[in-house]
Amino acid sequence: QGVTKDFTVTSSAFGKVLSSLRAVNDVTLEVMPGETLGIVGESGCGKTTLGRLILRLTQATEGRIEFQGRDITRLPPGQMRDLRREIQIVFQDPYSSLNPRMKVRDIIAEPLENFGAGRREIQARVDEVMDIVKLPIAYADRYPHAFSGGQRQRIGIARALALKPKLIVCDEAVSALDVSVQAQILNLLSDIQRQTNVTLVFISHNLGVIRFLSHRVAVMYLGRIVELAPEAALFDAPQHPYTRALISAIPEPDVSRRGQRQVLEGDIPSPIDPPPGCPFHLRCPKAQEQCRNAAPKLQGIAPRHSVACHFPG
Ligand code: SF4
Repeated sequence: QGVTKDFTVTSSAFGKVLSSLRAVNDVTLEVMPGETLGIVGESGCGKTTLGRLILRLTQATEGRIEFQGRDITRLPPGQMRDLRREIQIVFQDPYSSLNPRMKVRDIIAEPLENFGAGRREIQARVDEVMDIVKLPIAYADRYPHAFSGGQRQRIGIARALALKPKLIVCDEAVSALDVSVQAQILNLLSDIQRQTNVTLVFISHNLGVIRFLSHRVAVMYLGRIVELAPEAALFDAPQHPYTRALISAIPEPDVSRRGQRQVLEGDIPSPIDPPPGCPFHLRCPKAQEQCRNAAPKLQGIAPRHSVACHFPG
């Protein structure tokens, strides 16, 4: 609730503070049990920082983060450990996120060992999660280099599932994979959610991927949520000009269904020196005087559909 994260930019030579930037700006979001919330935006929009804040890998500058009704914003280290059991992550790069010197069995077993599970329990759980991610149990005694990118990501997912978490944050979890393999991993995540009712926060720059998996979608721009809606409402009737531009850029194979493509001019402004007023006004085809002077607030325009724009629709 109202979560903000500031970073200071320092000179590498002298360690002097040069400026600060707001990576996440007053974000309020809720994720329901068993739901997939997609968080989408261009690189540098703050979505990965938001994921790290949820995981408590970085500390919020302002605001409050609750998990199952409990304030976890500033938990002491002892209680953080318990939280690690409940919230897990699947990383982007399946090539660097697995220790090449450990067998698959040991990679998956590591979190269980850290939480004091016994040998038999570990063995049973490794077999169980290998089955959930659809990898033959014989693979458990091999090393990561023996596997393709998609198989490695299955191992990463198995490791994340080992402790039976309530929430998994997937940070660009399919971005490093070929398109056909992406589809397999997305189907797998969808099956796992049906099977285990785990809650997913799925972070991606790829709207097609977000659409496939998400029940609700938050669109981020320059550290803020600019639109938040159920998947169907967002894709059928996007209200924010930025969302509309992103959706119009998704390739549509059926020529008869292709709409007019909206090309966004310019780049995302630097978060070190954000523009006044609406953060999108320098690129927005609908920008007016009011947009240059006042930042729009995220406001409900329909049930469960909010948008931060003075002139939505
Ligand atoms: Fe565009 Fe104005 Fe809406 Fe910002 S507030 S998105 S500049 S129309």
